[in-house]
Amino acid sequence: MILKYLGTGSSEGIPSPFCTCRVCTHARKHGGTEIRHRTSAIIDNELLIDVTPDTFSQSVSLGIDLSRLKYILFTHTHSDHFYVRELINILPIYAHRKSRGNITVLSSSYAIEEIRNTLGEDDFSALSQHIDFTELAAFTPYTLGDFTVTALQARHPSQSPYIYLIEKQGRRILYANDTGYLPEATWDYIAGIHLDIVSLDCTHLTESGTAGHMCIEDDITTIRRLFQLGNVTNRTVFAATHFSHNGNLTHSEIDERLRLHGIITSYDGLEIRV
Ligand SMILES: [Zn+2]
Ligand SMILES: [Zn+2]
Ligand SMILES: [Zn+2]
Repeated sequence: MILKYLGTGSSEGIPSPFCTCRVCTHARKHGGTEIRHRTSAIIDNELLIDVTPDTFSQSVSLGIDLSRLKYILFTHTHSDHFYVRELINILPIYAHRKSRGNITVLSSSYAIEEIRNTLGEDDFSALSQHIDFTELAAFTPYTLGDFTVTALQARHPSQSPYIYLIEKQGRRILYANDTGYLPEATWDYIAGIHLDIVSLDCTHLTESGTAGHMCIEDDITTIRRLFQLGNVTNRTVFAATHFSHNGNLTHSEIDERLRLHGIITSYDGLEIRV
């Protein structure tokens, strides 16, 4: 599998549009890996996780062709992950897609209802001709072609927030942002499951901040427990994402700290292959 990060910033992105802090000023000056769009990722060009306010610009700047997309997972309904108006552009009048079948959009029943509420009945029913809206219950594996996707409970101030376990051809990714330290029900579910990539929320960086996100110390604690439980080995790839400028670290400063613990600092466009 190839996990590609399309965005790696928290809700305001970096540089935050109205901010003059050290990190945002540095990002405007240096560009490149210092620029962080709102967090989302794509796996094997077929499965997109979250549609952000930046999905259009991400597809342009990273050269991502979404016409082959088959599946979209939404983690939760916060605005940096849930720009559902973009789904309208899947309609044939706006898109001549390579994949002829319907796209499957999956999330909690609450999020699916919020898509309907946001789009309104007319657009939702027009889109339903081209999108299979599918409700996912937590801790219930769901097969999507070669993928098996399982929604896991996140610790986050949103209704029914999910992180995801994504499996394909014997490889597994734990995609876990917009969550604090994982809830015990999620730890119970993943017991005994081997993970090849672990992608963790690291919004707060050096400070613990709010409980719905993690910091570097939380990531280290999480990874240590994953080793203790036998979920991971030295061949597992660990990465951190969803960084906030309020953590007051530039990309290279984050990287200096995370590499000491064997954690990759994600950036927009980073690909991890397993
Ligand atoms: Zn977020
Ligand atoms: Zn800033
Ligand atoms: Zn959120």
